Amino acid sequence: MENKIDFVDLKTQYRTYKPEIDNAIQNILNTAQFIQGKEVASLEDNLSAYTGSKHCISCSSGTDALLLALLSLGISTDDEVITTPFTFFATAEAISLLGAKPVFVDIEDKTYNIDASMIKERINTRTKAIIPVSIFGQPCDMDEINQIASEAGIPVIEDAAQSFGSTYKGKKSCNLSTIGTTSFFPAKPLGCYGDGGAVFTSDDSHGKKIRLLMNHGQEGRGKHKYIGINGRLDAIQAAILNIKLKYYNKEISKRNSIAERYTNGLTDIKDIITPAIKKDRTSNFAQYTIRVNNRAEFVNKMSEINIPTAIHYPIPLYQQEVYQELKIDSKKFPVTEMICNEVVSLPMCPYLKKGNQDFIIDTIQNFSGVKK
Ligand SMILES: *Cc1c(COP(=O)(O)O)cnc(C)c1O
Repeated sequence: MENKIDFVDLKTQYRTYKPEIDNAIQNILNTAQFIQGKEVASLEDNLSAYTGSKHCISCSSGTDALLLALLSLGISTDDEVITTPFTFFATAEAISLLGAKPVFVDIEDKTYNIDASMIKERINTRTKAIIPVSIFGQPCDMDEINQIASEAGIPVIEDAAQSFGSTYKGKKSCNLSTIGTTSFFPAKPLGCYGDGGAVFTSDDSHGKKIRLLMNHGQEGRGKHKYIGINGRLDAIQAAILNIKLKYYNKEISKRNSIAERYTNGLTDIKDIITPAIKKDRTSNFAQYTIRVNNRAEFVNKMSEINIPTAIHYPIPLYQQEVYQELKIDSKKFPVTEMICNEVVSLPMCPYLKKGNQDFIIDTIQNFSGVKK
């Protein structure tokens, strides 16, 4: 082992781009244009160009991006929104915050994404949208989901908080449905140095509405057309993202090489299941998540030798205290139940040193013992 292993090594990333980032931050301090402005506008242009989406509205977080998308669609009390129970809490939280009800659909056991074949049966007259989440970076079965949605006459929001830069049939995540949302939380694949997010759409009316909603529904100074939020991105975050975006494709390919090395080392181990990426899509490997048989023991052994791991996600959303009132029968989610008990994410970032990764792989090979 070369040194202490970080789960996500943001310090080395900063050192790599330090002169450019320090300079960009200093420029913002000198101009004193802290919120919105030129850097934010150019970031939005760059993100639009990168994803191929006609409109990009940057905002204050991935959670606010979801909220803005749902607000633009007019989601409110008594509406239902279909989503996955295997995601970060914010996906369902944004739905609930608007008074609507999240309707959970079980996931696939290979990709851990929402099972598209089970969506249709949950659609009724109250269903107003579907939010598939591209979990760990892998896009969902978007053609199937878009088809089901279009037959029902409802929109699709891709929660692409983890999948910025991933592709589906050659098209970029965030640009695969009516609206796409992402997050620039520091530990996400494309992270800033605070909170940040963005909303993407190629629909002109949503593009225009979301831009207003993001800034208090304000159309022209002091004129408020909608009830919106303060969802503005600040200029320092935009400047940092503009720099990181230039190197992002290189970072994604490093993440893919690291994922491949993990998979080569771990795939033959009995009781470990490595990630499966479907043929028509790519992942940015926001997380490298394996399934293990006895997770508690696995995590303990790893932490004893100072290898950090994380569990995304131990608790299905329908089991969260706040959703007990939905009275959801966990027996209807056999795959989610199984996956939540078995998943564990390994250190992953473009700056994971080869020596450290070899140490992680050797360690797992040693204590997992028997080969298949
Ligand atoms: C991180 C994340 C969010 C929330 O993003 P924030 O920027 O932290 O608000 C939403 N959905 C998913 C799937 C996420 O991973």
